[in-house]
Amino acid sequence: MLDINAIRADFPILNQAVNGKPLVYFDNAATSQKPQVVIDAIAEYYKQINSNIHRGVHALSQMATDAYETSRQKIQQHINAKHSHEVLFTTGTTHGINLVANGFSAFIKQGDEVMVSAMEHHSNIVPWQMLCERVGAKLVVIPMDDKGELILEEYERLLSGKTRIVAVNHISNSLGTINPIKYIITKAHEHGAAVFIDGAQAAPHLKPDVQALDCDFYAFSGHKACGPTGSGVLYGKEEWLNKLPPYQGGGEMIKEVRFEKSTYADLPHKFEAGTPNIEGGIVLGTAIDYLNAAGLNHIMAYEQELLQYGTQKLLEIEGLKIIGTAARKAPVISFNVGDIHPYDIGAIVDKMGIAVRTGHHCTQPVMDFFNVPGTVRASFSFYNTKEEIDALAEAVKKAQRMLS
Ligand SMILES: *Cc1c(COP(=O)(O)O)cnc(C)c1O
Repeated sequence: MLDINAIRADFPILNQAVNGKPLVYFDNAATSQKPQVVIDAIAEYYKQINSNIHRGVHALSQMATDAYETSRQKIQQHINAKHSHEVLFTTGTTHGINLVANGFSAFIKQGDEVMVSAMEHHSNIVPWQMLCERVGAKLVVIPMDDKGELILEEYERLLSGKTRIVAVNHISNSLGTINPIKYIITKAHEHGAAVFIDGAQAAPHLKPDVQALDCDFYAFSGHKACGPTGSGVLYGKEEWLNKLPPYQGGGEMIKEVRFEKSTYADLPHKFEAGTPNIEGGIVLGTAIDYLNAAGLNHIMAYEQELLQYGTQKLLEIEGLKIIGTAARKAPVISFNVGDIHPYDIGAIVDKMGIAVRTGHHCTQPVMDFFNVPGTVRASFSFYNTKEEIDALAEAVKKAQRMLS
């Protein structure tokens, strides 16, 4: 079990008033808050070992390199990758998707197909669209139903020998749906297609096992999982990363540079051109240690309690409709109240110290599907409480009275 008071005390930002009210932070799907150990680790890095990695023979450079590589191994264990060189440091999920979509030009030709789902974040749509435009391939969309669940019979019907890669999210950021990715991966592989999993919303809540899933690629962002902004991970199976051309050229990613021809470094360096976000990569390891110390199974169980409580509490509000009612959900509640514009609700609850997100949440096709201009989204984390959910419900009721 989690000691919520102790956990809250680890997050200094939570202990403040916003607009004269105690802060209630329900925008966790946009970015998570950071525990003191993570904040401290950033300062410690700059106070003690700041240096460029993989280059110097001097002591500080060695320490920074060791810390960076130790973090890579920590992440390898966390996601159960077979090799640490299958773990690439990135600036976040978007970077990981672009790296793969760009390199995939080498494996796809005119008339081939790339498949995404109807509930993808823009960053798991646009890079694939750009790939399709470059090579003359077709973007195919796995449809969803009114609950916000993917229609798996349609998925299987759409798969064919033309499908080169399937790119889907593990968890939807605007609906909260937890997708049956193991099944999706197995079916894609039966058709010889590779699978890219966008794990941006999964990493804060669960421990993905990339070998058990058998996914070809899995990406997530540090900043949504208690880690520093500008840190992230792209996992890729060794055989894919060996085949995939580099994304960016520069220092660190080469073996030898000649004006006639250069050769590339071994994994993972082939994909890590230039000086990376060194402290971000190191401190992402600290964030993962923090999540594991709390226990992701405990985190998940508690967040499910918050989800159930919040769903029930919000549904008591007359005219409130939840968008995204899948059977398996992460602690994300997207809703609208009657015809009130989501932005108006967001602005009023903000005056009461409650941070929610409003708008299309970078998933315009999802909003079009449900025929709404946007939603109010409350997304919970393990440092939130039921009392905070009560405060949200009261604030939404107040907004409703003011606006109707
Ligand atoms: C946030 C998010 C992204 C993009 O992550 P960045 O950290 O902005 O690169 C992609 N997919 C999903 C599902 C997300 O929630």
